[in-house]
Amino acid sequence: MDLGIKGKRALVCASSKGLGLGCARALAEAGADLVMNARGAEALEASAQAIRDDFGVNVTTVACDVTSAEGQAELLKAAGEVDILVNNAGGPPPGMWTDWEREDFIKALDANMLTPIALIKALVPGMMERGWGRVVNITSQSVKAPIAVLGLSNSARAGLTGYVAGTSRQVAGKGVTINNLLPGIHATDRAEALDKGVADKEGVSMDEAKAKRCATIPAGRYGTKEEFGAACAFLCSQHAGFIIGQNILLDGGGVNATL
Ligand code: NAP
Repeated sequence: MDLGIKGKRALVCASSKGLGLGCARALAEAGADLVMNARGAEALEASAQAIRDDFGVNVTTVACDVTSAEGQAELLKAAGEVDILVNNAGGPPPGMWTDWEREDFIKALDANMLTPIALIKALVPGMMERGWGRVVNITSQSVKAPIAVLGLSNSARAGLTGYVAGTSRQVAGKGVTINNLLPGIHATDRAEALDKGVADKEGVSMDEAKAKRCATIPAGRYGTKEEFGAACAFLCSQHAGFIIGQNILLDGGGVNATL
């Protein structure tokens, strides 16, 4: 299917690895030029070069922390006018509700709620003026079904979800869509880190921890970043203009709910 976004300009945050990279590659495959970001310059440049080689699109890289005000300013300056914004950043660490203090919440809110909101605020007005835009926020299945040890994530991402629910309906009339993609477990470094936490806590091997988690997923496996990227690219396509303010679970059936 032609996604109709050849030559569009996409800013994909936190995209040297994992789900962000899956989105960047799928958008590039559809012909979009990219601005890619991550803190580590080496992995970022390597992923960007692979995309240039594989898909022949223009890729600009900005190595910075997207959750800092300075990082956002740097990114916005390099990005200029963009048609597509994919918001992403690392997730908060797991822990116990009794341990989290105000600073822990502020950090999580900054990374997973206020950063995407700042970028939406900076870039969506231009999209509205030009009459076309796509925003996809990478959130988590924890928005639909809380993961107790990820309370910081549950909280910050629920805040972003509320913001998107209202804002998406205020901008839709100008051709701009904002939606959230909710990953369940995908095979990325983040999933490895979560599995390691379980393995260490329960004194089991990584394979056992992974098998235990797979048993909770009806599809019986982890998702891939390629599958995730394809869903993101579709939401950013010309065909997805009537999808507004939705929360789309990509979780292999992990969340046991009718709706
Ligand atoms: P990942 O494999 O660890 O990749 C994270 C990517 O983001 C890397 O490119 C990393 O590069 C970059 N990054 C992290 N913090 C950044 C920052 N502050 N500024 C700029 N770039 C940053 O993670 P992932 O699995 O793709 O997860 C992406 C998001 O989805 C996270 O918020 C995660 O919590 C959420 N999620 C993931 C899963 C899953 O199963 N994978 C499930 C639910 C939710 P640098 O480290 O070099 O900056």
